[in-house]
Amino acid sequence: MTSHIMPTYGRLAVTFERGEGAWLWDDQGKRYLDALSGIAVCNLGHAHPAVHEALCGQSRKLVHTSNIYRIALQEQLANRLIEKSGMDNVFFSNSGAEANEAAIKLARKYGHGLGIEKPAIIVMEKSFHGRTLATLSATGNPKVQQGFGPLVEGFIRVPYNDIGAVEQAISGNRNVVAVLVEPIQGEGGVNIPAADYLNQLRGLCDQHQLLLMLDEIQTGIGRTGKFLAYQHNGILPDVCTVAKALGNGVPIGACLARGKAAEVLTAGAHGSTFGGNPLACSAALAVLATLDADDLMAAATSKGAAIWAGFSGQLQGNPHIVDIRHKGMMIGIELDTACTGLVGQALDAGLLINVTYEKNIRLLPPLVMDEPQIQLLVGTLSSLILAFTATL
Ligand SMILES: *Cc1c(COP(=O)(O)O)cnc(C)c1O
Repeated sequence: MTSHIMPTYGRLAVTFERGEGAWLWDDQGKRYLDALSGIAVCNLGHAHPAVHEALCGQSRKLVHTSNIYRIALQEQLANRLIEKSGMDNVFFSNSGAEANEAAIKLARKYGHGLGIEKPAIIVMEKSFHGRTLATLSATGNPKVQQGFGPLVEGFIRVPYNDIGAVEQAISGNRNVVAVLVEPIQGEGGVNIPAADYLNQLRGLCDQHQLLLMLDEIQTGIGRTGKFLAYQHNGILPDVCTVAKALGNGVPIGACLARGKAAEVLTAGAHGSTFGGNPLACSAALAVLATLDADDLMAAATSKGAAIWAGFSGQLQGNPHIVDIRHKGMMIGIELDTACTGLVGQALDAGLLINVTYEKNIRLLPPLVMDEPQIQLLVGTLSSLILAFTATL
């Protein structure tokens, strides 16, 4: 069959038809265990009844009005996000890249308010912030930027998890207005920085009047065992972006701001036709209610620990395993060699996984994954890894 889809994705030859929790079924009736959640999106699993009910109920009443009117569900969702994050206000978008665009625009306008004509934002190597022009320019992966120059200027790149490099970039450069960073790099290979990295960045930003802007698009909405990953550090950022799991698959993103950063984007400064429409907000409200009602943040912590312990036991002593990392249900298994072939082998075995930067197996299971499914995940993937490394 010829496809009229632009070939921007190297797609696996499988088409899913329906799901339930951590299970998916393809159009041949074969069942798969999902350890990827549509890349950190379906944190509540597939076909969650609370999201289903919210969407059905809301679509009967109203799908869209416009941001030129008040939207009660958007105001409710903003209130919930503020309560859960400690931030002050919210701009709603339809995706992660758009949430980061809002953050980047906010940082620039903040800089202009300080009289800085060419505001610069410090960003990290191996970061991922999206595919729009500004966000791909902020992204620390040459493959994402290749062919799309000229890039958007105003980004200064430093190594991740290196406070000295940030200090150096700030010193003597009066144009720096913000630091944009992921609390854990997802696309970059599940890179977990030093436990006090965010605290140190917070200190530097305070010292130099910079905005600390956290991209929590992958780490947020319970994934790491807290609602937002910075809550492990007891700090607050000035700006925080979320998307992916906020709607459990319904497109919605948000840029949260606090304090002086919350006063930057004034009437007419930014906008979105769809952003925060009633349907998307109804789904997100159902997601937040379910996270709390089912205690899924605590579940992410205990289940993530069980998965990590399982792999650590099964793969113990294997010389090709460089590291097994995790924070809640964000799990990375780093090999000493390219292992992208494991994705197809796992698919054949009925398991959905991902590999980033060629050597890092990345697992982002739904937070609702149950104990037998955890056993199946650990057993199936360990066998595949052991068989693979035996051939090296
Ligand atoms: C996925 C992701 C994005 C981009 O989100 P889109 O919804 O694909 O635009 C940005 N930052 C991080 C950390 C992500 O994981």
